[in-house]
Amino acid sequence: MSWQQRIEQALNERRQHAAYRQRQVNQGGNGRYLQCNGQQYLNFSSNDYLGLSQHAEVIAAWQQGAVHYGVGSGGSGHVTGFSQAHHELEQQLAQWLGYPRALLFISGYAANQAVLAALMQAGDCLLADRLSHASLLEAAMHSPAQLRRFHHNQPHSLASLLQKACTGQQLVITEGIFSMDGDSAPLAELQHLTHQAGGWLMVDDAHGIGVRGAQGRGSCWQQGVRPEILVVTFGKAFGVSGAAVLCDEPLAEYLLQFARHLIYSTAMPPAQACALQAALHCVQQGDELRAQLQRHIQRFRAGVASLPLKLTDSDTAIQPLVVGDNQQTLVLAQRLREQGIWVSAIRPPTVPPGSARLRITLTAAHQTEDIERLLEVLHDICV
Ligand SMILES: *Cc1c(COP(=O)(O)O)cnc(C)c1O
Repeated sequence: MSWQQRIEQALNERRQHAAYRQRQVNQGGNGRYLQCNGQQYLNFSSNDYLGLSQHAEVIAAWQQGAVHYGVGSGGSGHVTGFSQAHHELEQQLAQWLGYPRALLFISGYAANQAVLAALMQAGDCLLADRLSHASLLEAAMHSPAQLRRFHHNQPHSLASLLQKACTGQQLVITEGIFSMDGDSAPLAELQHLTHQAGGWLMVDDAHGIGVRGAQGRGSCWQQGVRPEILVVTFGKAFGVSGAAVLCDEPLAEYLLQFARHLIYSTAMPPAQACALQAALHCVQQGDELRAQLQRHIQRFRAGVASLPLKLTDSDTAIQPLVVGDNQQTLVLAQRLREQGIWVSAIRPPTVPPGSARLRITLTAAHQTEDIERLLEVLHDICV
């Protein structure tokens, strides 16, 4: 098969299964509203849970950072790309979350890839929740370790995997809040089982950081759990982008020696680290924003309960409506769009086959009337 045939065949397969992905040009902002094709939509598709991407303090910090440092970092952190702003942010994060060290990464995707690539060796076993994010599962599949998946949020299933023979080290991987379902992991039980078996726990809290726990310290803090490796990302509740790995001193030093994503890649712009310091400050002071988000979540769930739609078991900002069929999900998303509401249709392989869904996300930037409008339109298109 030629290159052309191979590519055309793969594209056709996607088209036939209504799984073809297309980007939309967003012409302004990603806050309460977004603009596409000259139209304005209420935005129920953003991970900016606290609305910080539009926050005046965060924007001003980025601007001042750019004036002070210029717009780029100029190189890898191992050369000259590690600035005072990066250094301060790492210290603030470590102190906030109660870890000896924090290391910044350009994205959550890179952080997960880097950690697993640097740590795992042949003979090791990676035990991952089967619904873990693609960045984790892909890194796991590329690593020389053996990947074993346990049933979603089921400690029993992990327990039986932990009993299987493994000649090397065991690393258990889960998320604090699952990105496509919005449900929370039973972290205390998972940690207990992991430690009983002598393994380490790694938690990716991309959707919990900033939103859960005192001062927004995340799912682990909320559940009284302290994984050996905590990954937090800044593209969601922090409203910016980037990520950090929280760990002890020796692991941080090890990652600085062996994490190729740090060594062979340009560090995030220092101005972004300035914006992240401001975002961290907003997160820490963000009780009112978190309360607002919680009110929206409760109102939404109460309103949807009377509709013929299936909600997941989620008390978080992620409130997916599982439809099942790809085509039907696309039609519903389109009908919402016709009513001025932007919701993403999420299809396999991002979610398991037959579980296509409307992934509705609520944020503190929404007003109560926005939630009412969403419920009204959902009601109209469903009954
Ligand atoms: C979004 C997300 C990531 C990727 O983070 P980026 O910073 O967007 O690369 C990783 N893990 C989970 C669970 C996520 O939801």
